[in-house]
Amino acid sequence: MKLVVGNFKMNLTLEEVNEYIDYFKNKNYFNVVFAPTSIYLSKFVENNLKTSSQDVSFESMGAYTGDVSAIQLKSIGIDYSIVGHSERRKYYYDDQYVNAKLKELLNNGITPILCIGETKEEKDNCITLDILKKEIDEAFNGLSNLDSIIIAYEPIWSIGTGIIPTAEDINETISFIKKYIFENYHTNIRVLYGGSVSNKNISELEKINIIDGYLVGGCSIKKEDFDLLINSVN
Ligand code: 13P
Repeated sequence: MKLVVGNFKMNLTLEEVNEYIDYFKNKNYFNVVFAPTSIYLSKFVENNLKTSSQDVSFESMGAYTGDVSAIQLKSIGIDYSIVGHSERRKYYYDDQYVNAKLKELLNNGITPILCIGETKEEKDNCITLDILKKEIDEAFNGLSNLDSIIIAYEPIWSIGTGIIPTAEDINETISFIKKYIFENYHTNIRVLYGGSVSNKNISELEKINIIDGYLVGGCSIKKEDFDLLINSVN
């Protein structure tokens, strides 16, 4: 079964979150993971929904104001964490921390969802595969037991734009990612597609066999839309 992860980013108020949880709590979607803003994580866990944080600290504990550690996430029952999202890389310079964050998650038995992807400029310059290799190598440097890591391939130019790559491009890029990781890190890794996934394009995306699931932004915030999307995924 494909995995569907909803990344709410910095959206939804407490009232909206309560309505959202009420809507999903009895649906028993075992392949769906919710990634709300960190202040709501416990609410999702307490309602037996599979829950992911949107980020994690690169350190285990101590004087890091504003950060949340992998140990703390584990202590409230979090099983997944997004790492290296392009928005974190852009606004919080996360490229340098991705490796340490992965290490923290793996040490604490939390499944990392590692985001990689190229900008429009990089795509136009035909260096997408080089960028992906670099992001993978930087992230995996010195780590072992990589089997649990999930990759989310999110072309940055596709995030929030309504534009998705061609089926051929997605197939080619995800094949490359899987092959590169198998050849260099000797592990078979699941790869999600992310970037403008919605009810408008899910039937097209579902025809691309190599995709192991989806990381969904905007469409995951509206509960009915997300539910429809979940039900369109095999
Ligand atoms: P959108 O689905 O809104 O394009 O966001 C994708 C994303 O960044 C998920 O992490």
